[in-house]
Amino acid sequence: MYKTDRKLLVEELENNGIVDPYVLKAIGEVKREKFIPEAIKHYAYKDVALPIGYGQTISQPYTVAFMTQLLNLKEKSKILEIGTGSGYQAALLFNMGMEVYSIERNISIFSDTLKLFDQLRIRVKCKCGDGTLGWKDQAPFDGIIVTAGSPVVPTELKNQLSINGKLVIPVGDKETQMLKVITKEDDGLFSEENYPQFKFVPLIGREGWKDA
Ligand code: SAM
Repeated sequence: MYKTDRKLLVEELENNGIVDPYVLKAIGEVKREKFIPEAIKHYAYKDVALPIGYGQTISQPYTVAFMTQLLNLKEKSKILEIGTGSGYQAALLFNMGMEVYSIERNISIFSDTLKLFDQLRIRVKCKCGDGTLGWKDQAPFDGIIVTAGSPVVPTELKNQLSINGKLVIPVGDKETQMLKVITKEDDGLFSEENYPQFKFVPLIGREGWKDA
């Protein structure tokens, strides 16, 4: 079911500038409808963000594809995701053969998504907590992807990148954010690229927003 819709979504993303063949392949294979509440499953292949309950969303496929493309992944990279949410982004990374770690702060979302990963045999290492602090025991990471908007770049996340690792994070106010790609270069210094204009739910935590 939805095979044609998935194919059409891949074509739409290609037309909108997504070029990474591994990202497009994963979008064409991972069943987005599995990560969406039953009542709105028929919207699964529209290129829009959708509500997943608790005031949170599954991000728009274009945004997920664009952010994943920005990570510029090599085979079997070790990736940390902040904001597990529905689990769709983590499922794509797993499908692409990455070693995936993911942190979610909302305990209800965390336990629902853990069950779903179990059912779908998606092997992602998950933790419930404040992702603005990263996952120190498991660092360094080749990529860190933050799927909620932050007022600043959390220092801990930069610290937990490997050499040539990339942090992709939306930074701005609560209305709109710029996607920042921060790369830890060979000499240990950080370079930065910016892509406007995105809108995410807030990243809440010690190095994020203090409230929703
Ligand atoms: N990646 C998700 C997906 O594929 O569905 C989209 C996530 S949703 C846009 C953002 C998520 O970030 C929400 O589930 C929210 O609870 C979570 N979140 C917000 N602040 C967080 C924090 N400090 N640490 C971990 N998760 C956080």
